[in-house]
Amino acid sequence: MKKIVLLFIVGMMFSSAIAQDKKYDRVLKLMGSRFDISVVASSPEDGEKYLDLAIAEISRIEKLISSWDANSQTSEINRNAGIKPVKVDAELFELIQRAIQISKITEGAFDISYASMDKIWKFDGTMTEMPTEEEIKNSVQMVGFENIVLDQNMHTVFLKLPGMKIGFGAIGKGYAADKAKKLLQDTGVKAGLINASGDLNCWGKQPDGTSWKVGITNPLNKDKLFSWFDIDNQGVVTSGNYEKYIEFNGKRYTHIIDPRTGYPATGIISVTVFAPKAELADALATSIFVMGTSVGIDFIDQLKGVECIIIDDQNKMHYSKNIQAKSINKS
Ligand code: ADP
Ligand code: MG
Repeated sequence: MKKIVLLFIVGMMFSSAIAQDKKYDRVLKLMGSRFDISVVASSPEDGEKYLDLAIAEISRIEKLISSWDANSQTSEINRNAGIKPVKVDAELFELIQRAIQISKITEGAFDISYASMDKIWKFDGTMTEMPTEEEIKNSVQMVGFENIVLDQNMHTVFLKLPGMKIGFGAIGKGYAADKAKKLLQDTGVKAGLINASGDLNCWGKQPDGTSWKVGITNPLNKDKLFSWFDIDNQGVVTSGNYEKYIEFNGKRYTHIIDPRTGYPATGIISVTVFAPKAELADALATSIFVMGTSVGIDFIDQLKGVECIIIDDQNKMHYSKNIQAKSINKS
């Protein structure tokens, strides 16, 4: 009898040794950004398979929402601005619907129709001089989520004004992280983390049983992290003015545009938002940039399950009401 029990225990140890959970990682460029994907799996074959699945899902979303890809449905909507409604997949329709919802709750700080401004403000190094007031004024007239017309029955999207344009730069990576997570969870993957250049979502625990961690960078010294957070089954997104920006006369203009003025948002260096979904966190991080520190904090304090950390341009940190509830381990 004893022998059988012993054999059984040895057997269990053996099987757990061969089926041990490990973390499998991949780093690659998708949606024009660096993605760091990690999954927990019991074999390298499974690990690689899950990573492939996540990548296929993110690529699929990129094809749908990219405004660079002339073949995407988003490009078709933009090409038909002021001309006619365009029928789109339910998925894109619903994403636009949610984006408009966020425009409404942020009173227009977040607006996917900011995109016509990308003819004026270019953050790819090609801009040599400050746009004129006149140019900005003309272009900002085409910005306004009120002019995105959705037809629920036909699943069509119509941009009312000629020259109008939508873009998912402030919500797409968060959405892709959420969708990749959902797909892997539905496949039975017990834990993972999808990080799209600081827009991330995660679920489960790391193989050693500890929570996933996110480090928030010190904007003054990009190589140094200044705080670590444990994150469990949630989205965390950081938007900063230190990656995509241009400088004129010593002044920094960041890639987040105030849709109401057409000028880049000022006053904030970085915003981190914690929310149940990365999509919402992504959109809100961008919105807070436009709203500014005090309006931004007040706004976040009214949302359940959402927290934020703002670093203003005086390098002062501001926390939303309940952020202390999270474990801040300053290092
Ligand atoms: P990152 O892409 O660096 O993570 P964000 O999530 O804040 O940063 O998104 C910034 C991008 O969102 C810009 O590059 C632009 O494509 C788009 N964008 C800029 N201003 C707005 C705005 N007010 N509302 C919605 N999208 C915006
Ligand atoms: Mg964003």
